[in-house]
Amino acid sequence: MKNNTDTKDSVMEKIVALCKRRGFVFQGSEIYGGLKGTWDLGPLGVALNNNLKREWWKMFVDNREDVYGLDAAILMNGKVWEASGHVAGFFDPLVEDTETGERFRADHLLKDVGVEADGMSLEELDAAILEHKVMSPKGNTLSPARQFNMMFESRIGATAGPEGKVYLRPETAQGIFVNFKNVVDTMSPKIPFGIAQIGKAFRNEIAPREFLFRVREFEQMEIEYFVKEADWETEFEKLRADIVAWHEHLGLSAENIREYEVPENDLAHYSKRTIDFEYNYPGKGFDELAGFAYRTDHDLKNHMEASGKSMEYIESDGTRFVPHVLEPSFGVGRALTAVLCEAYTEDEMNGEVRPYLKLPNHLAPFRVAVSPLLKNKPELVEKARMVFKALQAEFGNVAYDENGNIGKRYRRQDEIGTPYCVVVDFETLGQEAPDLIDTVTVRNRDTSEQERISIANLVNYCQ
Ligand code: ATP
Repeated sequence: MKNNTDTKDSVMEKIVALCKRRGFVFQGSEIYGGLKGTWDLGPLGVALNNNLKREWWKMFVDNREDVYGLDAAILMNGKVWEASGHVAGFFDPLVEDTETGERFRADHLLKDVGVEADGMSLEELDAAILEHKVMSPKGNTLSPARQFNMMFESRIGATAGPEGKVYLRPETAQGIFVNFKNVVDTMSPKIPFGIAQIGKAFRNEIAPREFLFRVREFEQMEIEYFVKEADWETEFEKLRADIVAWHEHLGLSAENIREYEVPENDLAHYSKRTIDFEYNYPGKGFDELAGFAYRTDHDLKNHMEASGKSMEYIESDGTRFVPHVLEPSFGVGRALTAVLCEAYTEDEMNGEVRPYLKLPNHLAPFRVAVSPLLKNKPELVEKARMVFKALQAEFGNVAYDENGNIGKRYRRQDEIGTPYCVVVDFETLGQEAPDLIDTVTVRNRDTSEQERISIANLVNYCQ
């Protein structure tokens, strides 16, 4: 049974339960009853998350010559968010249950009854809610829609006045735009070029929901790719192919990814073209995984005007211009959820249902688990520890597991997606057949088949 053919909510529930049971994802502040819209990554979740981010960085920064890395501060001068338009316009439409006071996103309630409400004005939302007789989930009437700014505010130091106000960044992108000149001056990049950043972003979502999908604190992986205006369409197609390749690299199957061309009337006023890459989440259907927008020269021009600092790029012949920008923007949590959904598999083994994560090798929290056949035989343990240390030196993320019987160890490792289990037995020590000395059993997670491999070939085998 493969998850994506099963559209029932139960698949998502099983994944959430597995994530908690096996230390991938915990509710934020759980012992105090939680904090809505926050999740904590456990030991295996952080390993998977780090692998995902490392692969992204490798693909989009290290393996390219035209993209530069950056790690900007989360707290930025408040003027950044005025210039970017977030103070005046980063709103979601909010409605309240008139009985309970619970808050909801008006466009989401409309979407739930099949009405696409992206880009509607408050008056249009009210009219659509009336026309379609939309009620709160508790069946009560709804208040008129009003705008709700999604930025978290704080104060810096002891400054009391408005100048002390700061925001937790709602996107990593602005950290890139304000450093555009710094990167140009220090790295002398040839246009087209990109600046990439991975980091936290915060949005005071009205109604966080659906596990990691809509949360208040999340991570983004973003690239601002600077081009000449005349080249934007060619470069757009190249980056679009790179995004497709990235989703393939995550192991997401093509039939579970859909490109949604945002219609012209729904585009942000500064965008000339936006594609949402959507994933077919079980029980939810297709929804945004990543966004890809052509943002013209809107951001750099705004910062140039507001800061009075030039954001021009100067070519070797002295031509000056403000570059245009293409922005691939990925949510780490949404990618992680898609990876888990794609990997979650159930089959039958020895008459029992076996749930396991068919994770790609480069993402699995552990690349390989090593065990001695018996944990009370010092000679087996000693050899197994040796093999473990050698593999750990190569891969880093290797598990040593000697609890329970071998069958249980396999089940445990399958459930967390470990691709290979290595067992050191008496044959490894040369006690059964001399020609098998220094060979081990390697069991494959997906086929559950076992092979005899020489220790010297293990690293190659587990690549
Ligand atoms: P949505 O329409 O789903 O709210 P968005 O269009 O506002 O998303 P962008 O501003 O384009 O999202 O942000 C880029 C990416 O950041 C999204 O594609 C998504 O992967 C991620 N993201 C945005 N908001 C959240 C959130 N509240 N929780 C988790 N990930 C998010």
